[in-house]
Amino acid sequence: MNLARLLDRAGRVAGGRVAVWRGTSPVATHAELAAQAASLAGGLRTRLGLAPGERVALLMTNGPETLTALFACWQAGLVAVPVNAKLHPREVAFILENSGARLLVTTHDLAGTAQDAACGCAPQPEVVEAGSPAWRALLGATPVPPHPSKASDPAWIFYTSGTTGRPKGAVLSHRNLLAMIQGYFTEVDSIAPGDAVLHAAPMSHGSGLYALPHVAAMAGQILPESGGFDPDEILRLLAHHRGVTIFAAPTMVGRLVRWPGKAGADLSGLKTIVYGGGPMYLADCQAALRVLGPRLVQIYGQGESPMTISVLPRHCHADTGHPRHLERLASVGFAQAGIDLRVAGPDGSPLPVGETGEVILRGPTVMEGYWRNPEATAASLRDGWLWTGDMGSLDEDGFLTLKDRSKDLIISGGSNIYPREVEEVLLLHPEVAEVSVVGRAHPDWGEEVVAFVVPAAGASPPHEALDALCLERIARFKRPKEYLVVPALPKNNYGKVLKTELRRWLEAEARDNNSKP
Ligand code: ATP
Repeated sequence: MNLARLLDRAGRVAGGRVAVWRGTSPVATHAELAAQAASLAGGLRTRLGLAPGERVALLMTNGPETLTALFACWQAGLVAVPVNAKLHPREVAFILENSGARLLVTTHDLAGTAQDAACGCAPQPEVVEAGSPAWRALLGATPVPPHPSKASDPAWIFYTSGTTGRPKGAVLSHRNLLAMIQGYFTEVDSIAPGDAVLHAAPMSHGSGLYALPHVAAMAGQILPESGGFDPDEILRLLAHHRGVTIFAAPTMVGRLVRWPGKAGADLSGLKTIVYGGGPMYLADCQAALRVLGPRLVQIYGQGESPMTISVLPRHCHADTGHPRHLERLASVGFAQAGIDLRVAGPDGSPLPVGETGEVILRGPTVMEGYWRNPEATAASLRDGWLWTGDMGSLDEDGFLTLKDRSKDLIISGGSNIYPREVEEVLLLHPEVAEVSVVGRAHPDWGEEVVAFVVPAAGASPPHEALDALCLERIARFKRPKEYLVVPALPKNNYGKVLKTELRRWLEAEARDNNSKP
């Protein structure tokens, strides 16, 4: 089995059923989607001369063509390289050159970025816009059968979002993604044929990966007309469709929960919200449960091991009176079946329950390595274990609590401070909407804690009150030395806070202050 055969199988078995919706309108059945992918694959192979194993970059706003392009790559034995649509052309050019993509498929709204990026590359990849005459010509080619890719062949190069540095291309094989699909069915959710996944988050990331379980189950895919996350549209679609699953970053869940239009909205079509990709704070999770009910599943994963390293299933969100319910709710759940997970010391040996160390794992979803980056591969994959760069601890029942990425750890006066712990406390203040805590260089202490605070609408939380809250709940040395009130936090389009930007801002401020007479 490889990924191309999944769609081929759906086309044969459930050919007449709707596979793709644009908003509320059916766009293609499974048979039609499979036929389009086979024709486009024919075009890629015979008209563009692409050979199995070559890379095809996809810089696309979510749309039905994204699915066609993705599956056409696998049908032709090519490697898909989905690219974040919000990147700057120079960043896209980096990915094009790094992956050695020969073709860049794009959508009309991103054609300018695609052309600029391609022009900055040597050699220049060809650019084809979905829906253009060139695209239609490719779709008119003679269809090819699914390429017999081996399980170990690369299928998707997943460029990390680069929150901790330059993006790295995690090479995911057909086997990795088939294991991810199986993990979905055993740990995350079941999928009935009439269900559908709504792609409100960018398909270059988790939402695209999570198209696959629904293809495997021969269920539907809904592409919003807005191409992304529009709460009003989501609510409209939930009133129309049944059995809908949405993959969302915690910030998206928060926006949906706070959205004024959700009052009185018909949520009966919403089956599951799978959230992950960044921390969900306890208070936000509780608010989401109040609004969305028993529909939440949390996953913890990374591009290097998609999508589920650990899972906090629906039933663990419900308060069954377990004495450690809240601790479990604040955790990222337990290791997915088939994943060997450890919280390790620097030498890789497991640490005792409750101690904090780096999360390492091995299992069938772990990437083959980073594309053309043996140094980064050697640093991340050691003796078969993936070192995630995430710090965490396990409790006696195997629930994993993430502290932070090791790169975000603040070391002040020799003591470790995990920003997430401080953020959780500050978020308890009703006048704080969002917060991000980072370290700032300090001549005596090494680093000191600084909190960037986004106040709730119309509020201005007094710093003394925030200080008092911290003193009530965490050790004095973890308390921020400064609270900087900002209108918004810098985020990438997956909704992740870019702490590197906050740190850069603090460094620039320090330089300016030092240069003042
Ligand atoms: P880079 O590796 O380039 O810095 P990135 O961190 O955004 O980019 P991704 O693969 O996009 O890389 O994201 C994976 C990371 O997101 C995980 O390593 C973890 O730090 C964080 N993450 C994922 N799921 C969760 C979760 N449920 N709770 C907290 N953090 C999470």
